[in-house]
Amino acid sequence: MAGEPQSDCLFCKIVAGEIPATVVRKTERTLAFRDIHPQAPTHVLVIPHAHYPNAAELAAAEPEIAGELLAEAGEVAKDEGLDSYRLIFNTGAGAGQTVFHAHVHVLGGRTLHEGLV
Ligand code: 5GP
Ligand code: ZN
Repeated sequence: MAGEPQSDCLFCKIVAGEIPATVVRKTERTLAFRDIHPQAPTHVLVIPHAHYPNAAELAAAEPEIAGELLAEAGEVAKDEGLDSYRLIFNTGAGAGQTVFHAHVHVLGGRTLHEGLV
């Protein structure tokens, strides 16, 4: 069923507590934790507990949770003291997506105005 945990999914395992993560925020429907290979001083991933392969599919199926993901990304930035930050949703292997459970990267703490990539 759509949204159900997948046994072969790394982020479903993090949600289930089977793989440790440095959690910075948690709600009933979302989890925010530090990326294991940070690309900036702040690099946090915000994910829904529910399994969807990417952000657009999450938004199509559960728009309220997609909205909550964005709101939580903003709260993470606030908690980290960031007034400027970047949100990234890699979608598809060709765009660099490596974990096929919807997530938004929250990046900040360094200059990010050079360009989009
Ligand atoms: P993607 O490339 O799919 O947009 O982002 C996946 C992110 O997950 C990468 O930035 C990668 O560093 C991060 N990541 C991969 N494995 C783990 C892990 O086991 N723990 C944490 N905290 N992050 C991970
Ligand atoms: Zn998953």
